[in-house]
Amino acid sequence: MQQSGRIWYNIPIMKWTKSLIQTLRENPGDAEIDSHKLLIRAGLARKVAGGLYAYLPLGMRSLKKIQQIVREEMDRAGALEIVSPILQPAELWRTTGRWDTMGPNMFKLRDRGEHEFALGPTAEEVFTDLAKSLISSYRQLPVTIYQIQWKFRDETRPRFGLMRSKEFLMKDAYSFDTDADGADRSYWNMYHAYERIYARCGLKAVPVQADGGDMGDSMTHEFHVLADAGEDGIAFCDGCGYAANLEKAERRAAPCADADCPAFEEVATPNAKTIEEVAAFLGLPADRFVKSLVYIADGKPVMVCVQGDRDVNEVKLKRFLGAKSVALADFGTVLKATGANAGFVGPVAPADASLKIVADIALKGAKGRIVGANKDDFHLKNVDLARDAKIVDADYADLVVVKDGDICAKCGKPMAIKRGIEVGQVFKLGTKYSAAFNAVYKNDKLEDHVMIMGCYGVGVSRTLQAVIEQCHDKDGIIWPASVAPYQVIVENLDPDKPEVTKVADDLESALEAAGIDVIVDDRAERPGVKFKDADLIGFPVRVVVGAKGLANGGVEIKRRCDDKSKMQVVAPDAAVEAIKAALEGE
Ligand SMILES: [Zn+2]
Repeated sequence: MQQSGRIWYNIPIMKWTKSLIQTLRENPGDAEIDSHKLLIRAGLARKVAGGLYAYLPLGMRSLKKIQQIVREEMDRAGALEIVSPILQPAELWRTTGRWDTMGPNMFKLRDRGEHEFALGPTAEEVFTDLAKSLISSYRQLPVTIYQIQWKFRDETRPRFGLMRSKEFLMKDAYSFDTDADGADRSYWNMYHAYERIYARCGLKAVPVQADGGDMGDSMTHEFHVLADAGEDGIAFCDGCGYAANLEKAERRAAPCADADCPAFEEVATPNAKTIEEVAAFLGLPADRFVKSLVYIADGKPVMVCVQGDRDVNEVKLKRFLGAKSVALADFGTVLKATGANAGFVGPVAPADASLKIVADIALKGAKGRIVGANKDDFHLKNVDLARDAKIVDADYADLVVVKDGDICAKCGKPMAIKRGIEVGQVFKLGTKYSAAFNAVYKNDKLEDHVMIMGCYGVGVSRTLQAVIEQCHDKDGIIWPASVAPYQVIVENLDPDKPEVTKVADDLESALEAAGIDVIVDDRAERPGVKFKDADLIGFPVRVVVGAKGLANGGVEIKRRCDDKSKMQVVAPDAAVEAIKAALEGE
């Protein structure tokens, strides 16, 4: 009866023995972080080549659930779904100049007619071109269009599984508005949709301010999942809630209160080039040194001075100088500008007397410091930056990467640095792309105006692994019910006993009928092996059906996130309600 019932009502059945699930005992050799190890060991995905993965049936189920959440929240936010080609013609990229500026990360290829194409790493060009052809009147605006599509990036070193792969699934959305206020509303509309997406995926994702790059002061937030294995540093302030990535994070630093010092003098520091080497040689702490680096900003050399224990933030430097590009200078430029090789350069009397010198704000008032002497194998001690290097007030700014304990620029409380995995970004684009494509609409006076755009990305495949990174323990994954491959596993401990199998299969049907997705482990394996696999894959609820348990009155229900002490025993006919309650309490 059950069997025919399933066929008639099309209730899916899933038995472990027919599911192609393969768990692995050993960690893959190339996996550096837990989520990558678990992704492979739990049989969610399998590596096809470096940076390329096949999603196996279990992984595919979770990926589809994440996609569905993203799709529902985009639709709820009023966005329209389309799908655009992965293969994108070079002409579109040439319109914005990005065919040449995207660099080696873009996969480029030719068809048999020698036409050039890219495997899309993103789709601003394609969507702007589409919007131009679809939109003519202000009456059609605002509008946001999105797709969930595979993207490509020729990573130099693919790693961390799905985190940094050559092929990845992304939701990308693009908004088109008539004015800045509208663009602002579209931006926050997506921002709030993203908050809902990550919450529904069971993730604690935090929005952090990021640098708008070449788009001036444009607003952008990244959504990060906090995890020790994260690649990105984020500065957090508990005092006011400020959160920013390390490129963007600002700090407040008081000028230093160094005592006056005698005239500077030269000290020989043979072969000691790095701050650590010189500090060890002179027996002084790194913060007494001034680290001086020569950069090329828009073609001109600039010296940047920061405290010895600090790193220059190139994004802040670029912004402060108002430069289009900054990069460390080559050896020849350093020698010409200062008279010494890197390691011995400093702000006091460089060879090029016109060399622009800027310094970090914390060095304002610095006296009695050690700097490179602009002469190989020598440093200067007792340097007063204002007196000896003639650095004027206007040349001090916040130019370093923030560190744990730095003072929040907003409220004055100390900040903490945490690690994050970026799973999404919202970005105000302004008219960068629409102007390049002349994507205009007619206003009510029939005048042409360029549309104002925003773009919004969710790393769908990356989110899958971020869930694993945030939700696991030493035994395996602990899936949130919303994105688990199956919400429930029914462990049939006696598959050779028809009366036990009937209870397990009836429970499976009842759960399916209640809208709960379930898999039955019907393998003739020892309970220990089955439980270990269930914990490794991380099904939110495990139900054990066995002859011994049934003789004692019931089936055992345990949530993956609880320990054994919270296991419940219930009668088979009360199991569905108890499982529902366990899933809801999750
Ligand atoms: Zn603060």
